[in-house]
Amino acid sequence: MSNVETHPNPIRIAIIGSGPAGFYAADHLLKSKEIQVEIDMYDRLPTPHGLVRSGVAPDHQKIKSVTRVYDKIAKDPRFRFIGFVEYGKHIHLEDLEKHYHIVVFATGAQTDRRMNIPGEDLRGSHPATEFVAWYNGHPDYRDLEFDLSCETAAIIGVGNVAIDAARILCLSESELKATDIADHALKTLLNSRIRDIYIIGRRGPVQASFTNPELRELGELEDAAPVALGEEVEPDELSLEEIEKNGDEAVVRRLEILKEYASNTTLDKGKRLHLRFLLSPVEIFDRGDGSAGVLRLGKNELYRSEDGSIRSRASGQHIEIPAGLVFRSIGYQGIPLPGVPFNHKWGTIHNEKGRVIDPGTNAQIPGLYTTGWIKRGASGVIGTNKTDSAETVACIKEDVKNGISLTPGSTGNGRVEELIRERQPHYVTYEDWLKIDSLEVARGEECGRPRLKFTTIEEIFTALKGAGYVAEHFGADKR
Ligand code: NAP
Repeated sequence: MSNVETHPNPIRIAIIGSGPAGFYAADHLLKSKEIQVEIDMYDRLPTPHGLVRSGVAPDHQKIKSVTRVYDKIAKDPRFRFIGFVEYGKHIHLEDLEKHYHIVVFATGAQTDRRMNIPGEDLRGSHPATEFVAWYNGHPDYRDLEFDLSCETAAIIGVGNVAIDAARILCLSESELKATDIADHALKTLLNSRIRDIYIIGRRGPVQASFTNPELRELGELEDAAPVALGEEVEPDELSLEEIEKNGDEAVVRRLEILKEYASNTTLDKGKRLHLRFLLSPVEIFDRGDGSAGVLRLGKNELYRSEDGSIRSRASGQHIEIPAGLVFRSIGYQGIPLPGVPFNHKWGTIHNEKGRVIDPGTNAQIPGLYTTGWIKRGASGVIGTNKTDSAETVACIKEDVKNGISLTPGSTGNGRVEELIRERQPHYVTYEDWLKIDSLEVARGEECGRPRLKFTTIEEIFTALKGAGYVAEHFGADKR
């Protein structure tokens, strides 16, 4: 460890999680004129960037280029990345309290929501979140198996994750090969027999949560055609009222795109992507061997609820579609962190504007903050986390000014390296990550792809060792 000191008494900050929310929080803190900070950003994986690496679709390379901004933030001498160190396993709240003034939890939303219908656990029925993590090469999910030998897949939910999962199932060989999709997923997808993909919304198109660029993209696929039904795309009276009241131009354009898809009669492509609305999953029937075979859906009608929102209710009619593969894409959900108050209903840390709150007393817990999906739930795009983190950082600055923070002891001058070396000698720095990054890009170049990811921890460390990695090497770092 070198001795680049930036301030004699900086506010020491630990950020748990290295996705967009964590990086934007770091950025706002580093740019702050009011407080002088030093930041350690932890991640349980040896690779940073959270869902930018393991969530953003592999054919959306432009979106992934946001990591250049994170690389720039990481260059600041007051910032360190400490990867492959897991909160709750290698490092605990009581450790952090001894070494930092402020702890910011930015762990995102790591699990899925359940449909709670019979047949949900049959083979072939999966959370879309797992499919996404699998095709993006997340080490915890790379060994999952997805059987793509059936002809029809159904995706429940009409958000952007559903659209991503459907699009990946539709990409042609040349489209897939232009992405950084994990190699195991590429092989499986190239052998896929799926020809019909259903995306199913319980409410109407006006209430769908996907965005227009993603919807439009479905019409530009090489070997798949989007299909919609005229009667489902036509808004009902309640939805028309809603459009009129809100004057939402984006919804008007969305309906135009869907109408275009509904009138599409030239279905000369190899795959069809059916956008269906006003249907709720009721049951998945067993094919007879413990795997999904048929999806039963209840037809819905819309009504205005007491709180004024438009909701769906069963009309009593049903339809069935064959589906050997069912993805539930009905939202990500946060998981509780040891020692941090959690709202199980919302799947978020108890907080007010990012200040962690004791649910019993509603009092602030000094020094603990949160940002991103674990703060507000799984909503918004990458950039939303910038504003979200600004709100949290504003609270931190105000509190520090008012003397509210943790009070780390003087032991080891508050430094945490010794502890980390002891608990996880194989931690990874940002410099290590940059080596992994360039090795992956070089591997990709060899086969004409933007990147070829390492998808196991073992592969990552073998590559790193080849590039001169030694364990316990804080010395190579900036401070
Ligand atoms: P989402 O946008 O919240 O969509 C969830 C969908 O699931 C909604 O259509 C919702 O319908 C439906 N749903 C919820 N419970 C259901 C149930 N019991 N039965 C049937 N349907 C149900 O979530 P997401 O798609 O997981 O996306 C998460 C966030 O990441 C979003 O903000 C999204 O925009 C963002 N994201 C962005 C991109 C991109 O920018 N390209 C890509 C991926 C993700 P109701 O509306 O009726 O509840």
